[in-house]
Amino acid sequence: MKFRELAEFFERLEKASSRLEMTSILAEMLSSAGKSEIGKAIYLSQGTIAAAHEGLEIGLGESLMINAIAKATGYSKKEVEELYKEKGDLGLAVQEIASKKKQRSLFSEELSLEKTFSNFVKIAKAEGPGSQELKIRLMAELFNSASPLEGKFIARIPVGKMRLGVGEPTIMDALATNYSKEFEKLFPKQVKEIKSALKEKKEEKRRKEFELRLKQRLRELIEEKYNIYSDLGEIAEMLKEKGLKGLEKVEITPGIPIRPTLAERLSSSEEIVKKIGKCFVEQKYDGFRLQVHKNGKEATVFSRQSENVTHMFPEIIKGVQEQLKAKKAIVEGEALAFNEATGEYFPFQVTIQRKRKYDIEKMAEEMPLKLFLFDVMLIENENMMTKKFVERRKALEKLVKPGGVIELTKSIVTGRAKEIDKFFEDSIEKGLEGIIAKDLNAKYIAGARKFAWIKLKRSYKGELSDSIEVVIAGYYKGKGKRAQFGLGGLLSCVYDKDADEFKSIAKIGTGMSEQQMTELEEMLSKTKTGKKPARVDSQLEPDFWVEPKYVIEVRADEITRSPNHTAGKDRTGGLALRFPRMVSFRFDRKPEDATTVKEIKEMFKKQKHVQVEEKT
Ligand code: ATP
Repeated sequence: MKFRELAEFFERLEKASSRLEMTSILAEMLSSAGKSEIGKAIYLSQGTIAAAHEGLEIGLGESLMINAIAKATGYSKKEVEELYKEKGDLGLAVQEIASKKKQRSLFSEELSLEKTFSNFVKIAKAEGPGSQELKIRLMAELFNSASPLEGKFIARIPVGKMRLGVGEPTIMDALATNYSKEFEKLFPKQVKEIKSALKEKKEEKRRKEFELRLKQRLRELIEEKYNIYSDLGEIAEMLKEKGLKGLEKVEITPGIPIRPTLAERLSSSEEIVKKIGKCFVEQKYDGFRLQVHKNGKEATVFSRQSENVTHMFPEIIKGVQEQLKAKKAIVEGEALAFNEATGEYFPFQVTIQRKRKYDIEKMAEEMPLKLFLFDVMLIENENMMTKKFVERRKALEKLVKPGGVIELTKSIVTGRAKEIDKFFEDSIEKGLEGIIAKDLNAKYIAGARKFAWIKLKRSYKGELSDSIEVVIAGYYKGKGKRAQFGLGGLLSCVYDKDADEFKSIAKIGTGMSEQQMTELEEMLSKTKTGKKPARVDSQLEPDFWVEPKYVIEVRADEITRSPNHTAGKDRTGGLALRFPRMVSFRFDRKPEDATTVKEIKEMFKKQKHVQVEEKT
């Protein structure tokens, strides 16, 4: 595939005004890519060169990029800088320069996707003396052969400004579109099921609905695989190579993260017992969730966001080798800093200091961690995810040799609300967050928030005391005193998982410190999109639209009905946050990790329920 063709798809994606349009462009793009190209096209469309767990980032600074542009085009650095300032985007600056290039290379040839990608990888891996010059040379080489449109994207990717808004769900939908004909042939049982469910429908509706449902089924199948193998690029390669048979090759693999299961909320132990009956109740620790993969002498640690954080936790790696009694295993737990002197756990604000790039050994000594395991997904070659929770827990107990950094979570098994309450109070007293109740019979449900796990925190007493994570989709210019920050408020959204869109829920104007406002303006002004992003659904028009990328935590008094917002919209209107205020940045969250519309609807329902109860 020529890089030109890919750039043309990117251009169309950038212009797309709906999520549906994006999916169909992506489907076309993925079907034009070859076997060795499809993964690369997927990574690049998301502005990366590898899946998150690889930790491979191009990370080229803007000043190096400006150098490279100058070197390739014959413009002076100052000229490039000025144009950048004028356009506010290095990609657009390059596009303009390239369209009136002063210097043409004699040897320039049309760029392939492979060549472009391989230069990006070389840049990402370059280190040590001379690496800066090498990076500039590799970039300049690309610019020399690039058309203006190619140049636009070649400049944006390495500086982390791709801005196409392509998320994993959209890619999975595009893959499902491309393989649904094959699915129809290979899975007669599913086809029969769908057809019989549609028997009653009228002929013309039937075919349309059939195609839709078929695609949905296939999409679920792809997502199931993605949940146990967090690398869509590789999954797409397997599909390209072997068609749907390729999916069979996707298995749990040490070294490739499994997407974490997530907990639902309920507001009392009675509700928990009503929902799942006798259950396993564990203390809820407030640290970092870690997924640990052991493969012989090797061990890898992944964060909740599937990033490889192995280097940060040397004592855990040691613990894995000393305490896990299997050659191969994937386990999961919460790590938190532990005060050996007092035998107490430190709060999250202390534990978080262990997430760092430098002074790791020193910090490991000063602030040792304990890892409390709560689940196991693989032991030797046995997939544990499909087993019941009780069986997994038993296996976990057998797997861990006691007496080290690794322990199992403290727990009780009960079907009585009173006992849960007692255990809850006990956990709070110890400075923990609350409890998590687990359905004894549930499988490990990767990548989803289901009632297999239910969290109960101190703050849930019905009112909206739980915080919400929202994605910023736009911002308003400040007035009066706020004008000096260039930011008066944020248009924020929650995530609609079914539609794969961001729906507006609040305008947030309070809670930010002056410093946070400056930071916000700086971050957001760099991600302005000039038009409403395709995956944002909002009736309100902020002064500036931005790429839905940054997640912040907010608190609010309650959820109310609103004619202005699109979250949870039905005939009576949408849902909005009343008196929303920012609490903190959540750089550890992807936009798709924000609170979902479904959760907001449930919180709204629960809140009504409590209000009625209070009144009676
Ligand atoms: P929260 O802010 O409540 O932690 P979250 O969105 O980070 O929410 P949830 O899935 O809602 O994650 O809550 C479960 C989280 O609680 C897990 O991701 C894990 O990090 C943590 N945790 C602490 N103790 C346990 C435990 N015993 N079992 C499972 N998860 C636990």
